[in-house]
Amino acid sequence: MTKETLLEEIYDLLYEKAEAILKRDNPCEHKMKCGVHSCLGKKDILSGDNNPQCCCEGCPFWDKGCKAEKPLTCKTWLCRISKKIYPETYSDLNKITQLIDLLHFWVYRGDKRQSLNQANSECFYSIKRLKEIKENIKNNILTF
Ligand code: SF4
Ligand code: SF4
Repeated sequence: MTKETLLEEIYDLLYEKAEAILKRDNPCEHKMKCGVHSCLGKKDILSGDNNPQCCCEGCPFWDKGCKAEKPLTCKTWLCRISKKIYPETYSDLNKITQLIDLLHFWVYRGDKRQSLNQANSECFYSIKRLKEIKENIKNNILTF
C-alpha cells in the first residue's frame, strides 16, 4: 500500500467522522424559516433573513451550494456563536482538526485534491505509522 493511498483513505475516514458529528448535533441549526434559509451564526445579525451561503460567502467553490469535493477543513470549522452554544460538538470536531494539522491536510476553503496534494508532499510519516493512524481512526481513537 502506498503513502498516497493511505493518506486518501485517512482523509475519507476523517471526512466521514466530521459529517457524522455534524449530522448528529446540527451545530449550525440550519433551517428554512418562511421559505428563507437560516443558520445559527447569522440569524442574530440578519434576523433569519440571511442568504444561504452563511460562512461560505465569497468562496470560489460556492455555486448555489458547495461545489468542492469533500472540503474537510470546512467540515470541522465552526463560527464563534456555534462554538459557544455547542462546545461538545466543537471539542469532537477539534480532535479531527488536530489530525488534519498533523497530516498536513489543512487548506483554507479547499477541496480533497488540494489537501491530498499538500499532504503527499509535506507529510513524512512512515507507511507503518499511517496504517496505525488509519486503524485508530476506524476504531474512533482520534488522539495522535
Ligand atoms: S459555522 Fe456559523 S456561520 Fe457557518 S453555517 Fe454554521 S452557524 Fe452558520
Ligand atoms: S469549500 Fe468550504 S467555504 Fe467553500 S463553499 Fe465549500 S464548504 Fe463553503
